[in-house]
Amino acid sequence: MLAHEPELLNQLKKCVRCGQCRSVCPVFAVLGKESAAPRGKVFLTEMLHKEKLPLSEEMAGQLTACLLCEACSQECPSGIPVHRYVSIARSHLAKKGYYKFKRQLFGKLWPRTRFLSLAGELLKAYQHLGIRSLARGLGLTRLLPGSLGQAEAVLTTVPRQRARQLLPTVTPAQGEKRGRVYYFLGCATDMLFPHIAQATVKALSQQGFEVVISPELNCCGMPQLGNGARDTAVSLAARVLEQIETAGAQWVVSDCASCGAALKEYPQLLAGTELAATARTWAERTREVTAFLAEQGLREITASSTLPLTVTIHDPCHLARGLKQKAALRLFLQQLPGVEVREMAQADRCCGGAGTFFATNYQLSQTILAEKVANIRQSGAQVVVTPCPGCILQISHGLRQQGLPVLVKHPVELLTSLSPRDYK
Ligand code: SF4
Ligand code: SF4
Repeated sequence: MLAHEPELLNQLKKCVRCGQCRSVCPVFAVLGKESAAPRGKVFLTEMLHKEKLPLSEEMAGQLTACLLCEACSQECPSGIPVHRYVSIARSHLAKKGYYKFKRQLFGKLWPRTRFLSLAGELLKAYQHLGIRSLARGLGLTRLLPGSLGQAEAVLTTVPRQRARQLLPTVTPAQGEKRGRVYYFLGCATDMLFPHIAQATVKALSQQGFEVVISPELNCCGMPQLGNGARDTAVSLAARVLEQIETAGAQWVVSDCASCGAALKEYPQLLAGTELAATARTWAERTREVTAFLAEQGLREITASSTLPLTVTIHDPCHLARGLKQKAALRLFLQQLPGVEVREMAQADRCCGGAGTFFATNYQLSQTILAEKVANIRQSGAQVVVTPCPGCILQISHGLRQQGLPVLVKHPVELLTSLSPRDYK
């Protein structure tokens, strides 16, 4: 299984079975059994590689019970990237005929732009024509397979227009031009949160950056990496790099930490191919948008303008451990007048959303989410900020369920709520 990954194969041997990874794993904290622990998954990978265990549905299920949150990989004293093994093992099982539905959805259908557009339109019709209310009222959502009937409640209302229908391909810089950025506009922001895409473009433009987007929706490959379709992720990565190369930009920014983290994975994903060097170049030049603005320095904001807000931060896993840009997010917030940050406990612990995890492991996901909501409540903040559409969906769902009147925002929205006269 790891024959083409000599480095990973070598690292596998470094597991000393110390169990330190278990202390940070949200899944192990809930399930409490060794097969759910990162160490158990490393062992499973080793057995799979050595073909010492027969493949089974039980094994496929054990591998599904992982958020790919990278907490274990960061914690491991031997530097073992446990989450990568899980991703590779899932792809291995998928190739052997497991995860059929996911492989079909993420490997074959999702990469097709027309499929995603059609899915968005159907979802919109389902919600806007009252079918959702009717289906819920009649209890028909319970007939959806697995936990999809419950997970359906996590989804926000799909806006009538996608971000790409609202934004030009090129938005000029305001004032003195500081550079040109390629804004990677991912699937979730495009279809579910066009107002965040608009805020991202507005903020970058106001800060002096010309913004280029691709008119064509192209997934970053993260859902494929998580759902057993690594080969599809490779071809998506090649397509994304081609779009970036033709944009003539100096940096890539994204308002979705997961899309950004996917780009950071490209060098590893495309190692040994002719795109390896290109992947490395752009991985180094990829930033989450608020981290990018903090790094570049915000234009001076007058002391008179204030946003009287208490804010707590939820660090998406892909911001904290994928991009490693959580310090930059704090630096960004410090520069907004009137924003008081109240750190919640375990701000960078996974919220349980984890891409599609909330849909495939709804109950487990909700137990993990409950802890996050308790920490938000404890912070006493008015607003939770998090630069990830998936986390926004999941946390909003948790807050709704608990009846907690706390807003969930992308941090870039705080900057665009300032008006032009607030700048010197
Ligand atoms: S994966 Fe790392 S932290 Fe976990 S048991 Fe092995 S060596 Fe220890
Ligand atoms: S990636 Fe996260 S959920 Fe998966 S084993 Fe590691 S700590 Fe646990």
